[in-house]
Amino acid sequence: MKEIERLVRDNIRVLSPYSTARDELSGSPDIFLDANESPYPGGGWNRYPDPRQKELKEAIAPIKGVRAGQIFLGNGSDEAIDLIFRVFCTPGEDNIVAIAPSYGMYEVAAQINDIEVRKVLLGAEDFSLPSEGLLAACDSHTKAMFLCSPNNPTGNAFRAGEILALMGGFKGILVVDEAYIDFCSEPSLLGRLDSYPRLVVLQTFSKARGLAALRLGMAFACEEIISLMSMVKYPYNINAATQRLALEALQRPIDDEVRTIVSERERLAALLPGFDCVQKVYPSEANFLLVKVDDADKLYAHLIADGIIVRNRSRVKLCEGCLRMTVGLPSENDALLASLATYKTSE
Ligand SMILES: *Cc1c(COP(=O)(O)O)cnc(C)c1O
Repeated sequence: MKEIERLVRDNIRVLSPYSTARDELSGSPDIFLDANESPYPGGGWNRYPDPRQKELKEAIAPIKGVRAGQIFLGNGSDEAIDLIFRVFCTPGEDNIVAIAPSYGMYEVAAQINDIEVRKVLLGAEDFSLPSEGLLAACDSHTKAMFLCSPNNPTGNAFRAGEILALMGGFKGILVVDEAYIDFCSEPSLLGRLDSYPRLVVLQTFSKARGLAALRLGMAFACEEIISLMSMVKYPYNINAATQRLALEALQRPIDDEVRTIVSERERLAALLPGFDCVQKVYPSEANFLLVKVDDADKLYAHLIADGIIVRNRSRVKLCEGCLRMTVGLPSENDALLASLATYKTSE
């Protein structure tokens, strides 16, 4: 597709990727003498993993309602974020536009790749999507726009229609990070991929799926973008243990856990405003709450003294005075509430 090809970096457009022994494997041989592996199984990890993660992608596709060719798997979502820069953004020349405050990795990955970040503040009152400002920040070197919905650390989600409307005025890659989509009442944009070839949706195994330790992130997009990302990635980027464990994990339903986390989020959202130190609890569609308090540093230290760690976001623009509290087990949330009950604003 011309509209994607013209966005790709010149050096990537002409790249011939490394072809692994396993890429070139054909038939189903019994004897593997192609990859200089050890023939001794040891603990069962002597063979290189599938560089294309075929089986795992075929298991994910029907769950997400996409084709296997629309899936990229990375070492966390962070790998997919970095690859978007490496595929599309020419260092020292191109820029990206992103909402702020939001997830810090977009900016870090941009800096590492020497790409300018144009941050556009969310609506100050309600963290609404600054559509006009986002489009105004773009120029002919804007290769990608990064949105996060539900957004970290504000917790709110943007309406699908509002996000997709940006495509009318923006000619680059629109990245929508849906790391928290399982906790959200808005539908995922995955169903819209076929209508929007420049849309990239990020999801992850790290949050609702409960596999943060495995490091497995997903990017969904049209086949052309997925092949570009797959061509630039490290050949064996997802190790065999992760592929095997993720396949097993997909057999386990997580609906009950997600339901409990959402109901605990609502319980905390209802109870937190009852504490003197709490000024405001922002509405959340994620598995955390952004809470504005009288003295964020002091409350943060108090919670630590009780063995509870939250995220201090009080130095982030528009989040002044705010702590981000992840929803834990019901007993952990009770402990948070108990610690708040012993907190004296004057202490
Ligand atoms: C937690 C989080 C992720 C997940 O990153 P992984 O590298 O997949 O663990 C992605 N995006 C946002 C906004 C997050 O908060």
